[in-house]
Amino acid sequence: MALRLYNSLTRAKDDFEPAAPPKVSLYTCGPTVYNYQHVGNYRTYVFEDVLVRTLKLLGFLPNRVMNITDVGHLTSQGDEGEDKMEVGAAREGKSAWDIAKFYTEAFLSDCKELNLLPADTLCKATDYIPEQIALVQKLEAKGFVYRTADGLYFDTAKLPDYGKLMTKEHLEGLKSGARVEANAEKRHITDFALWKLSPAGTTRQMEWDSPWGKGFPGWHIECSAMAMRFLGETLDIHCGGIDHVPVHHTNEIAQSEGATGKPFAKVWMHAEFLLMNNAKMAKSSGGFVKLSDLKEKGFSPLDYKYHCLTAHYRKQLDFTWESLEGSKTARRRLKDAAAAVAGEAAKPNCAEFSARFKDALSDDLNAPSALAVVWDALKSDLPAGAKKAFLEEADSVLGLDLFAAEAVEAVPAGIVALVEKRVQAKARKDYAEADALRKEIEAAGYKVLDGKDGSKAVKK
Ligand code: AMP
Ligand code: ZN
Repeated sequence: MALRLYNSLTRAKDDFEPAAPPKVSLYTCGPTVYNYQHVGNYRTYVFEDVLVRTLKLLGFLPNRVMNITDVGHLTSQGDEGEDKMEVGAAREGKSAWDIAKFYTEAFLSDCKELNLLPADTLCKATDYIPEQIALVQKLEAKGFVYRTADGLYFDTAKLPDYGKLMTKEHLEGLKSGARVEANAEKRHITDFALWKLSPAGTTRQMEWDSPWGKGFPGWHIECSAMAMRFLGETLDIHCGGIDHVPVHHTNEIAQSEGATGKPFAKVWMHAEFLLMNNAKMAKSSGGFVKLSDLKEKGFSPLDYKYHCLTAHYRKQLDFTWESLEGSKTARRRLKDAAAAVAGEAAKPNCAEFSARFKDALSDDLNAPSALAVVWDALKSDLPAGAKKAFLEEADSVLGLDLFAAEAVEAVPAGIVALVEKRVQAKARKDYAEADALRKEIEAAGYKVLDGKDGSKAVKK
């Protein structure tokens, strides 16, 4: 089956036809590094990982660029509010540059733990300011730009098909949002900042000279400038989370197509939200879970990755600890199955399952169906060597590290403290207390092992 991908622009599942097969140029919007990413963000990156790995499995040669937003993303979706980097700096009493460095490293370390393939090019917005200025100048020369007291804006009325990625509901949403945070100088509610000027008499931590005065770039311009810098004027695929459709990606299209007169990306792909308590998991709402929170509760980041694979990327997915527990059990069973055949010589005579697995992914990256094929193969009477070959192939896309030896999970600090208290209770011969502590440890899912080298807790 040929690869078919849902394109948010055509609103249909289209046959995928890159401009210069087998090469595929791919741009994926990266994190804003003013805080830790939450597992909702990682749902989008897991989806992109499955995309890249599927392209490879099907014989394509993807070239992926990911940006790091380290300037210009303001606290409102419009062009008001503070730069998120400066907010992070004030919160932690560090410089905006240090904040960016710290959270970029945290992001990359999380990605490693989730076994996400690194992008071929990772580029920071602050490293490409001249490219962004040049793009704004090009737009200015073509008459798309006007100036207000606080910056340069893109005049969306000048682009006949502005907003083609948006639905009617998106536009309504923008209109109601604009009533709340109106900038009186904007000509149209959809106009957006290309360059923000530093207010006179102030010094910002992140600002650059430009032909228009000291300031900093708008959020959207970085992606247009860096995507075109590394991948050319028309990309095969551009991805991000679904929240990027009405503003960020709509405006990337406007800037890029305004400047070049060519389609910016052939295929636009968007991952649906991870929900928590029936709402989008978001940093701003406070109700979010980080990868370190999962580990603290005894989950592997790969349990979460498995959880993401159980839902199609275009369907909303609920995050609950109970469902994560289910994914953890399922991933363990997969690993056990891999361990059972690991010693065999891989014999790739598993064509039927291999074809079904590829078909599932070729149908707009249907990961849950692909997972079901894996379970079917394991239940089948395929010889062990064939099972091993198929599991290896499947894992090249699922990225669950099925054959890797896993480090023993860290025991949460609270459990370690209970074990220590029990050791002390035993030392003072308070066996009732020691017994009560053992029960408490067991109720939390651990058992105590008393050995020559002392006592420790392990997962039951
Ligand atoms: P940000 O760091 O806010 O720029 O977001 C990084 C990526 O995560 C973007 O592609 C967002 O669209 C995506 N994202 C944010 N929240 C969620 C969520 N709850 N579920 C899935 N993706 C999300
Ligand atoms: Zn972007």
